Amino acid sequence: MAIREVREIGDEILTKHCKPVKKMTLRTKILIHDMLDTMYERMGVGLAAPQVGILKQIVVVDVGDGPYVLINPEIVETSGEQTGEEGCLSVPGKYGIVTRPNYVKVRALDEDLEEFEVEGEELLARAFCHEIDHLSGELYVNKTEDGIHDVPAGEDEA
Ligand code: ZN
Repeated sequence: MAIREVREIGDEILTKHCKPVKKMTLRTKILIHDMLDTMYERMGVGLAAPQVGILKQIVVVDVGDGPYVLINPEIVETSGEQTGEEGCLSVPGKYGIVTRPNYVKVRALDEDLEEFEVEGEELLARAFCHEIDHLSGELYVNKTEDGIHDVPAGEDEA
């Protein structure tokens, strides 16, 4: 278990596509647990593997009812719309206004590489979309309505 360095915007690795996980190895298990530790330490609600420099399709999310570990995730259903503030541990001290689906269904593999589906609404749906975007090298900053803004001092980042 360890806290890993979080890569920040401008780092090329955040713009790259991630590879699917084909088999579970000890190394990948350690990565997943380090990602969870890093997300909690940095008080984020999600973290994707490229944010710690690993180009694998793995995300972790916890908006308060998790954690969810999603391997090779894909969004298979969406509905509705929500517009709200979004931040990213790779874009420290900033937020932007982004429109996302209000509901998503995600199909993914768990840590035993068994397929499962999970549904999320509101913040959980937003977190799934945001983190899954990271796996194709997309950052929320390119989806904002009017750019990115400084988080007022004393507020947590998402
Ligand atoms: Zn992010």
